[in-house]
Amino acid sequence: MATYRPHPFSWTPGGSLRHATGDEYPSGGWRDDKVTTLCGRPIRVDTSELAWLWDTCPDCNAAAHVLAQCPMPPAVSA
Ligand SMILES: [Zn+2]
Repeated sequence: MATYRPHPFSWTPGGSLRHATGDEYPSGGWRDDKVTTLCGRPIRVDTSELAWLWDTCPDCNAAAHVLAQCPMPPAVSA
């Protein structure tokens, strides 16, 4: 069964950041997998609840916006 995947990447927490990866998303979701992120770092996927609350990797965020053909929003000033 095909998994709904609107863009050719998936968000994947690992290494204390939320990265994006172009690796094929496994049916049933990530487990203890190793993936290569859009920023080029090999990570081990962290599937803990808190991992999804980590900061977004800025390099993966920029690469994901390019792949999604979506311009980056202007930086929010404090
Ligand atoms: Zn990254």
